[in-house]
Amino acid sequence: MQRFDLFVIGGGSGGIACARRAAAHGARVGLAEPGRLGGTCVIRGCVPKKLMHYAAHLGGLITTSRAYGWRLASPELDFRGLLEARNAEIRRLEEVYARMLAEAGVTLFRARARLASGGEPPHGVEVGGERVVADNVLIAVGGRPSLPELPGIEHAVTSEVLLEEVYDRPGHLVVVGAGYIGLELASIMRGLGSRVTLVYRRELPLRGFDEDLRIELAAALAREGVELRPGTRVNRVERTGTGVLLDTSAGTIAADMLLYATGREPIPNTGGLGLEEAGVRMDADGTIYVDITYRSNVPGIYAVGDCSDHAGHGLRATQYDLTPVAIAEGRAIAERLFHDRHQLVNYETVPTAVFSIPQAASVGYTEQQANDLGHEVAVYRTRFRPMLHSLEDGRQQTFMKIVVDETDDRVLGCHMVGEDAAEIIQGFAVALTCGATKEQFDATVGLHPSAAEEFVTMYRPAARRAAPASENAP
Ligand code: FAD
Ligand code: NDP
Repeated sequence: MQRFDLFVIGGGSGGIACARRAAAHGARVGLAEPGRLGGTCVIRGCVPKKLMHYAAHLGGLITTSRAYGWRLASPELDFRGLLEARNAEIRRLEEVYARMLAEAGVTLFRARARLASGGEPPHGVEVGGERVVADNVLIAVGGRPSLPELPGIEHAVTSEVLLEEVYDRPGHLVVVGAGYIGLELASIMRGLGSRVTLVYRRELPLRGFDEDLRIELAAALAREGVELRPGTRVNRVERTGTGVLLDTSAGTIAADMLLYATGREPIPNTGGLGLEEAGVRMDADGTIYVDITYRSNVPGIYAVGDCSDHAGHGLRATQYDLTPVAIAEGRAIAERLFHDRHQLVNYETVPTAVFSIPQAASVGYTEQQANDLGHEVAVYRTRFRPMLHSLEDGRQQTFMKIVVDETDDRVLGCHMVGEDAAEIIQGFAVALTCGATKEQFDATVGLHPSAAEEFVTMYRPAARRAAPASENAP
């Protein structure tokens, strides 16, 4: 029987990161992955999404380029060509992951795995008809899209289907849900030429993000041609000869395709994994509770990434189901178990971006969170026309906001809607992690001409009062 120091169940972001780091420190590591290596991020998430985001963004730049004198004869999109190029890149990345695991000395099992014991370690794991034993088992099985129960919901597709199986661009796409996936795929498909209607139940998209950012982003999406249907609930869905018909609280909508992007949950993956039998504590959605070392209540059984509660942090309003978080958690386990280094993941300054068009990105507290936590808040805001678009009709706007604690001058949050928001906010995440003050922002010389310099040139607070009660509360 094969024996491992660590057995990882799941070859996605968190599992691969932990396995590689543990093996680098000399541990004997096994990893089970029945599907394609790389998991959600590489196969049906961040990577295909970002490549398609680039394609959509480039389409907009073709229009912009006309204002700069470029004359391009009737540009058109080869949708299938784009998807084939995207798929080839994903296949390349899969091979890179397989090679990196092999070079690290990780034993790879191309099969579903299941825990076969609880109690004290070592633990038994069944994998591909074989039984192995490991002193430590990491559960890193991620999550799957969750759909509400609704008559006709079977006529909807999920992001997994849209990103992996759809090869014909829908003429009219309806997207239900205004979280990360809903906004990103609505923007992308709009940018690639589909008519897109975005249906959501609140007045603003992106619950949990800063209220000003949400307002700015909704306005920007509308300017980009996404048809917004806020405050709308879907009652039922029917299949028609050409597509779907939605019966909603605001009338009917006919479309060629319906995408539901209403969240993800671990239960399809953590259920049937032998966790209940082993006595591992989970919530009703199948999320595994872990302590700050990512250990479950059962000694030797750990969990990271989307299937975990992120050491309790995932229970707060902010969302941590992100690739870099899963990676950081996976590496932290390997460092603690096999290198005697106890490094904690800093959840306070996890930057995040929504790759809509335009992008939205944030790091740190929203104004509302800062108020709720009792900070005396000063808010700085700016909105301007980005220089890139200054030769055009000027419909694009960039928005930036800083949330500051007035008592110690610490910058608590940076928020942005606009071109390159993700790239810019990543830099400011370093500043916030270092505990930067507003005075230090002011003392930083701007880089001109850039959009990012506006973050260090906001002088007068726009508001000092407490933010109004928001719908961000759970
Ligand atoms: P996963 O990456 O989901 O990996 C889990 C793996 O476990 C899978 O490969 C699965 O096949 C395997 N598995 C399941 N059951 C078993 C079993 N019984 N035995 C063995 N293996 C099993 N995050 C970002 O930071 N930026 C983005 O831009 C971004 N975009 C996204 C876009 C979309 C459309 C989606 C859906 C997600 C996106 N995310 C993004 C989130 C990100 O993909 C996840 O947070 C991340 O992949 C989580 O990693 P993980 O290791 O927890 O799980
Ligand atoms: P989100 O939680 O971000 O958004 C879900 C959306 O669906 C919300 O608008 C929510 O509304 C709505 N919703 C939930 N249930 C229902 C229902 N029954 N009927 C109607 N609407 C409903 O989930 P996503 O699916 O967009 O993404 C899943 C996760 O994947 C994200 O949270 C994120 O962690 C990760 N991800 C990260 C990305 C990135 O980093 N760029 C990109 C894509 C995904 P309400 O607010 O009212 O609850």
